[in-house]
Amino acid sequence: MTICIIGGGISGLSLAFFLSQADRTIEINVYESQDRIGGKIWTDRRDGFVCEAGVNGFLDNKPATLELSKQIGINPVRSNDNSRRRFIYLNGKLREIPDKPLTFLFSDFLSLSGRLNMVMEFMRPPRSKDDESMQDFALRRVGREFFEKLLDPLASGIYAGDPSKLSIRSCFTKVYDLERNYGGLIKGFIALAKEKKKAGKKVEAGPGGILHSFENGMYSMIESLRDVLGDRIKVSTKVVAIHRKSDRYIVYFEDGRQTESDVVVLTTPAYETSKILSDLDKELSSLVSRIPYPPLTVVALGYKNSDIKNVDLNGFGFLVPAMQKRRILGTLFDTSIFSKRAPEGYSLLRTMIGGARYPHLAMLDDDKIVNMTIEELSDILGIEADPHLVRIYRWEQAIPQYNVGHYKILEDIEMALSRHKGLYLSGNAFKGVAVNDCIANSLLLSQTIIKGYKDGI
Ligand SMILES: Cc1cc2nc3c(=O)[nH]c(=O)nc-3n(C[C@H](O)[C@H](O)[C@H](O)COP(=O)(O)OP(=O)(O)OC[C@H]3O[C@@H](n4cnc5c(N)ncnc54)[C@H](O)[C@@H]3O)c2cc1C
Repeated sequence: MTICIIGGGISGLSLAFFLSQADRTIEINVYESQDRIGGKIWTDRRDGFVCEAGVNGFLDNKPATLELSKQIGINPVRSNDNSRRRFIYLNGKLREIPDKPLTFLFSDFLSLSGRLNMVMEFMRPPRSKDDESMQDFALRRVGREFFEKLLDPLASGIYAGDPSKLSIRSCFTKVYDLERNYGGLIKGFIALAKEKKKAGKKVEAGPGGILHSFENGMYSMIESLRDVLGDRIKVSTKVVAIHRKSDRYIVYFEDGRQTESDVVVLTTPAYETSKILSDLDKELSSLVSRIPYPPLTVVALGYKNSDIKNVDLNGFGFLVPAMQKRRILGTLFDTSIFSKRAPEGYSLLRTMIGGARYPHLAMLDDDKIVNMTIEELSDILGIEADPHLVRIYRWEQAIPQYNVGHYKILEDIEMALSRHKGLYLSGNAFKGVAVNDCIANSLLLSQTIIKGYKDGI
């Protein structure tokens, strides 16, 4: 069997790895358009700074990335304990988010009425809706203050998204299921805690999970996969179309070459997948094109510690709720999260700009975006010094948005795909944007592909 995987991000590379482990007779080729594999995972290591251009790390509350790391022989590193301190920018100050439900309830992070509104969730009847926005769901169940101060910045932190558009069903499936299965969120948490206790498992308050990466950054994982996969990976090879030829596919490259394959898996971003599929199946191509990707720019600034003596960077970083009307989505205190991210005596901060709400800000030119970031950090953190290091990483189409109705797009895609034996779509556009999801989906897909081929379907 020959398998052609299009796209050399973590989805494509992990799929190639799992397939290669499952059956050594399969001929696997991974085609990547850029001269570097990894997609949104890239660690820029220069001048003693270990700077993530995109992905920052992964949580250990799902096993996928930890297990893959073990299989390819690299050791993850755990984030520092002080990075459990997370902040929200509220009315001119950074407020630490209380990390336990009871501490949260008794803190003044929310006003008394905000807290009462939250507790009243227990009494609110469930409403059965196929899908609704994260904002509508939150306003209906936990009230405006909880939404504006916590859930809204969370939507920026994970999706760089607009919660009035993001789907609760597709983005926060576990939360959506709590209402459907248990009649409410608090009822659901209590029921799940009881079930876990009964099964002798540890009961945790929230989704939990501790952030991990690797000593030299997330790109270490890509380098290890590259070493294992070797010449199965072809860089600088852009795929432009696929056609069907009896029971195989012809894959066309930008430079005019072509190849044939029994199985084709597209792990490219949805807007590229749509273009590649446009000759083969117009309906499928148009369905995939409905998943939007707003731009996001990461501005990394490095400071001499002696220049920012009075600034407290002890923690994970902060997020900014939309109602605060600032020009940045949030900032990560990289040197507090992981060790060895900057030379001795320096600190590294990375600020996110743009996303679904402020796409125009992500597109500002270099000088403007850096000056804007410096102004915002001066106002929010009190940093007055000039940065020693400035780096800008632009993702013009950054994170796929699972907007209301995303689940219906997925159902229609499944239906359309059933017309094309041996063709699969994967990548973060569909069932989970986190690296953990991409790897878990690749493992499942590798099993489906091998079973499908053996069964002749
Ligand atoms: C700024 C940023 C920060 C993030 N931070 C985190 C984080 O901290 N933790 C986390 O879990 N997730 C994070 N994510 C999400 C995360 O990036 C991913 O979901 C994951 O890395 C996506 O991997 P992928 O392989 O599905 O897609 P991609 O990484 O987008 O890979 C797709 C690949 O396909 C290639 N390609 C495109 N077109 C073609 C073509 N025509 N032919 C051949 N190849 C092509 C691309 O060059 C690319 O290499 C972040 C995303 C962004 C943008």
